[in-house]
Amino acid sequence: MVVTGPAGVPLLTMALRVEHDIFVVRQRGREVAAAVGLEHQDQVRIATALSEVARDLLHSVGGAQVTFVLVDDADGRRHLRVDLLPVRPLPGGRYEPQSGAVARLVDKLGVVTGEGDTVVRMSRRVPATAEVSTPERLAELRSELERNAPGSALDELAAQNAQLIAALDEVRSQRDELAVLNEELAETNRGVVALYNQLTEELEETNRGVVALYAELDEKSAQLRAASESKSRFLANVSHELRAPVTAIMGLGRLLGDSASDPLTAEQARQVGLIRSSAGDLLTLVNELLDLAKAESGRIEPDWSEVDLRPVFGQLRGTLRALATRPDVELVVEEPPVPATLRTDEVLLAQVLRNLLHNGLKFTERGEVRLRAERRDDQWSLSVSDTGAGIPPELHERIFEEFYQVPGATRIGGTGLGLPYARRLVTLLGGALAVSSEPGRGSTFTVTLPVGGA
Ligand code: ADP
Repeated sequence: MVVTGPAGVPLLTMALRVEHDIFVVRQRGREVAAAVGLEHQDQVRIATALSEVARDLLHSVGGAQVTFVLVDDADGRRHLRVDLLPVRPLPGGRYEPQSGAVARLVDKLGVVTGEGDTVVRMSRRVPATAEVSTPERLAELRSELERNAPGSALDELAAQNAQLIAALDEVRSQRDELAVLNEELAETNRGVVALYNQLTEELEETNRGVVALYAELDEKSAQLRAASESKSRFLANVSHELRAPVTAIMGLGRLLGDSASDPLTAEQARQVGLIRSSAGDLLTLVNELLDLAKAESGRIEPDWSEVDLRPVFGQLRGTLRALATRPDVELVVEEPPVPATLRTDEVLLAQVLRNLLHNGLKFTERGEVRLRAERRDDQWSLSVSDTGAGIPPELHERIFEEFYQVPGATRIGGTGLGLPYARRLVTLLGGALAVSSEPGRGSTFTVTLPVGGA
């Protein structure tokens, strides 16, 4: 028996010659494993593997020299290694354990050839926490191992039995734990299934609710559509019916004031004048109502063509100059950048811009009203800006409602139908009409239109 040096040097060497040595090898294996700090289970594993391999070698080649050694691998991890050097060469230089399960008991098991010797080598990693690193401790360990005389085969058998009982105990307690776990799992499963059923039910209920809501929504939208259609029809009919009598009143007023008719007193002439101007206002209202009703009922079909903005702007410049009567207000119609073309309905577009310019002139006391065109990618942006009274931000959307007029500005006249109509037309042309305005600083109405039409 040889016992020497620190890590890398044999801890214990012993001979395997007769059947009894198998027990001794097993016993010593367990002792060494315990001494270097392997835990109980690993001690049993390595001892079992060792006795199996020892038996194989004794029977196949008649014995071996068994060496226990502590080695460190390249990563500094420590392993307990057992080399079994056969007394005669292994048949074919190979070794296959009789029981395949043996290899699973240790980290490594195989035949290694080095320095002319062929050994069967097995190793098992020693936990980092095990304390056997100092040379003194190793020396102590070796002398301890030397002192421990090997017990009899009977002792080893008793020890093996005790280990078997411990292993069985462990298996039983693991099986009990497994049973408890299984029960818990089944319980959880039942909970999950119940929750799933409840959720499914709630989902179905919600779905039924949503379906009912949708049906109601559909019905309401149909009612709304019908109401909107009847409103447009009503407006169109009423305004159409009103147009004839209002035109007649205007004609009669004109006749009364005509020089060919009987002369009127000054008071009568004033009253006839009032009748005529009221009838004129009424006719404007009726015409605008009719336009809006037409736009809303979708009866306006844009007449699409390639339109050059320059003549359109030129015409607006000419016709609106007559309306720009305030000496302190300048009407500026900028020249559009070329190529100034887009696909649209020229008449409807001119109507929208005229309306916006008209508003600008109406609500601006001094400064300017400016029309300018800008092309950005495939969009035209046509803006009418003024230096007038401006509109409070909370009313920016309201002014697009029918008949809405900003309080205080009503004395200027108008119907409150111009902007809703303009927005309808711009939408028909595939664009959008927006306002940005600050009270006291003026307003900018911007029409954006796609170059290629709707
Ligand atoms: P109308 O001009 O016939 O009153 P609109 O629908 O064209 O009707 O305009 C609605 C209201 O929006 C106007 O009465 C006015 O209060 C406000 N508004 C429109 N354009 C301007 C503007 N350029 N500056 C200030 N307020 C404006």
